[in-house]
Amino acid sequence: MEDSAVTVMIVDDQAPFRMAARMVVQLTDGFDVVGEAETGEASIEMAAHLQPDLVLMDFNLPGIDGMEATRRIRESGRTSPVVVMLSTYEADEYGPRALQAGAAAFIPKSEFDPDRLADAWHEAVGAAS
Ligand SMILES: [Mg+2]
Repeated sequence: MEDSAVTVMIVDDQAPFRMAARMVVQLTDGFDVVGEAETGEASIEMAAHLQPDLVLMDFNLPGIDGMEATRRIRESGRTSPVVVMLSTYEADEYGPRALQAGAAAFIPKSEFDPDRLADAWHEAVGAAS
């Protein structure tokens, strides 16, 4: 892991998508996965513990959903990680709700790749790209 790598936590209830997301992060220069959670509840605890720079949050989760988990992660703790919401649903339907919950960006799962990940991060932290 590079010292300066952006640390990423993946939250999704489906193992195949966590694997796919991990591959995308690993293929993105300067980003490293530091943890994976299967539920919103687990993600809140894990985020407080790991203090990742970035959380990839599934919209639909059992128990509390990705919106509620995003709100709680953004509001709690000393750090406030950037949250990028991912969903199988289309951006025009769920994007506005994700942003309202405190996510910096919404990316449909079908479009999630290293370029979209890097762009979302750089836009969120205000870096010119
Ligand atoms: Mg899901």
